[in-house]
Amino acid sequence: MTVRVRFAPSPTGMFHVGGARSALQNWIYAKQQGGVFVLRIEDTDAARNKPEWTEGILSALDWIGITRGSYEGPYFQSANAGEHRAAAARLYESGRAYYCDCTREDVQARTGSQYQGYDGYHRDLGLGPGEGRALRFRTPDEGTTVVVDLIRGEPTFENKLIEDFVIARGDGSPVFLLANVVDDMTMGITHVIRAEEHLPNTPKQQLLWEALGVKPPVWAHVPVVVNEKRQKLSKRRDKVALEAYRDEGYLAGAMRNYLMLLGWAPSGDREIVPWSVIEDEFRLDEVNLSSAFFDEKKLRAFNGEYIRALPVAEFIDACQPWLTGTDTIAPPPWQPEEFDADAFAAVAPLAQTRIAVLSEIVPNVDFLFLATPLIDEAAWTKTMKDGSAELLDDAVAAFEALESWDAESLKSTLEAVGAERGLKLGKTQAPVRVAVTGRTVGLPLFESLEVLGRERTLTRIRAARLRLV
Ligand code: GLU
Repeated sequence: MTVRVRFAPSPTGMFHVGGARSALQNWIYAKQQGGVFVLRIEDTDAARNKPEWTEGILSALDWIGITRGSYEGPYFQSANAGEHRAAAARLYESGRAYYCDCTREDVQARTGSQYQGYDGYHRDLGLGPGEGRALRFRTPDEGTTVVVDLIRGEPTFENKLIEDFVIARGDGSPVFLLANVVDDMTMGITHVIRAEEHLPNTPKQQLLWEALGVKPPVWAHVPVVVNEKRQKLSKRRDKVALEAYRDEGYLAGAMRNYLMLLGWAPSGDREIVPWSVIEDEFRLDEVNLSSAFFDEKKLRAFNGEYIRALPVAEFIDACQPWLTGTDTIAPPPWQPEEFDADAFAAVAPLAQTRIAVLSEIVPNVDFLFLATPLIDEAAWTKTMKDGSAELLDDAVAAFEALESWDAESLKSTLEAVGAERGLKLGKTQAPVRVAVTGRTVGLPLFESLEVLGRERTLTRIRAARLRLV
């Protein structure tokens, strides 16, 4: 039997990092089993779907390594609507489902409780199809439904506790539970790997598989991803969109490595490992049962390591979207013609060791391309103290006299200027840094001045000096 897994997102919003993790787990499982990964877009919630969300899912999957053309699909659930209706009709015709026109209020009035599920009132009343009549599945009165779950063992559900649930609405449209089963069935899915939040659906879905006469799949419900307060990551509260991380400058390699560590770890005392190790070592049945904390700080640290591991040329390439701007990334503060690729290449290795996400490249290098630096006023006030004006005067004079404009000479020159005042280098360089870059932190100062060049450096220090009059 060929293993066939699927990832079945609903295009109702940005692509959630938890979804990305499920997609990767399915992807690896298929690969390990010599199986097939199917992508199905569950687009039947017409009110909430948008085509751009589908495109977002496809491109985010592509970014993370599940590339277009390397999987089966995408299929669209809406294209299968005929099959969904046919399955509903088969269940009705075989007596496994019946029509019911009770409202929620009717059920409440009969059971005396708003919490009670459907009471089976229409089970044997023989109501035929008709406008406003929902189709309900007749669940077994006895016995249990045992779900075979690669992560959870065999969760067992008492059938008598499962209400006769709706499979098609009053307008005849099949609900998600049924559509999802019918699609899995028609697509020959053998393993359903998905988030834990679907576990309550699973006994109902398994009953549908059995009633439709097909052997149910093996299930694997992976624990949810939570924030630091152990709340399920939510798109209203947390940063969950994979696209947002991509546009901030997380590397796909770091992201997918980190996502796979949510609830699982490779052998040994390692976390940052090549993707091939994850593909070899990942075991679905080793995934932890407890919910997994999505720790953005840790992800940042991971990303920094991945950035540092890039060959410089690749780092320079990887920075390009932030140096130019794209459809989804804001343009930098300089004009395209102000950018100087050689100057950027000269400082890139210095920046590479200092940034944790690629978008941070911009504030680190903008001083090189802007005609005048963007002055951070708070940094200015904090740094420019009594004596700064004179110090800048001396720095200008000393720099003007320099024969060779190189980092080492610049450093020893400024060191000497500070020493005359009894200042350590750190204190001496702060006003110069703010004058030239506009900030108190950034790339190593003297290398920066070397690349910026004599004229521009002196102009900026003089301009700062004038502000201090
Ligand atoms: N469309 C469902 C979701 O996005 C998928 C459910 C499943 O994987 O079975 O949650």
